[in-house]
Amino acid sequence: ELSKSGWLLDITKLKLGENIGEGEFGAVYEGEYLGQQVAVKTIKCDVTAQAFLQETTVMTKLQHKNLVRLLGVMLHKGLHIVTELMTKGNLVNFLRTRGRSVVNSAQLLHFALDVCEGMEYLESKKLIHRDLAARNVLVSDDSVAKVSDFGLTKVVSKAKSDNAKLPVKWTAPEALKKESLKEVKEMVVGGYRMEAPEDCPPALYSLMRLCWEQEPRRRPAFNKLREKLEREAGKHSGGEGG
Ligand code: ATP
Repeated sequence: ELSKSGWLLDITKLKLGENIGEGEFGAVYEGEYLGQQVAVKTIKCDVTAQAFLQETTVMTKLQHKNLVRLLGVMLHKGLHIVTELMTKGNLVNFLRTRGRSVVNSAQLLHFALDVCEGMEYLESKKLIHRDLAARNVLVSDDSVAKVSDFGLTKVVSKAKSDNAKLPVKWTAPEALKKESLKEVKEMVVGGYRMEAPEDCPPALYSLMRLCWEQEPRRRPAFNKLREKLEREAGKHSGGEGG
């Protein structure tokens, strides 16, 4: 069925290169497939492979400049997921290892817009990612940020009844059901919010607070958030000369 669908790749055409990362379920390698630079995620355990096939099923239906693109899968001693190569790695590392001259406010705003556009696309498909965090955003060679890791993505109607492990610190309070990390939950439900990062423009911090509203309906949808971010980006690029 996979081969008919066109998502099953030919393993003899893959050149595997260096290890570039470790996932929870296996290593990630860089490689080349028919002349294109790719990343190959290997999952050895059969049970988890089933779950990841689920992830790729979601990915096959998605194409956007700000989503890491799936090329296909290979079945050979487990499952191999082949995606476009994001040479600058995940966004957490990028932000931590580059100086302020690279990670300036214009670049940060640009990354925010990239992620927002990717999420807006998911939103338009009625999908929720459920694990959006900087570690799941990857940076391409030309410094475009793209959302990755669709393992927990669910169609909106199915999401509520599901009890999968959720990343507590980045999860909306009403989605936190379990007692894990009780303290964090209590603080967030009790109204605690993080302070503005250093040098964060007040308008952007207001936007962050809006996204953290206790009442879900008061949080902006991604299309609204994009409009607001674009307005900010416009202000900044316009203001630079004078
Ligand atoms: P999972 O929950 O699926 O195990 P994970 O967050 O544990 O995900 P992976 O998605 O497997 O991790 O990726 C691990 C690391 O490998 C990433 O943080 C990143 O540095 C690197 N990596 C993953 N995919 C790519 C890619 N397409 N291009 C470049 N590097 C990648």
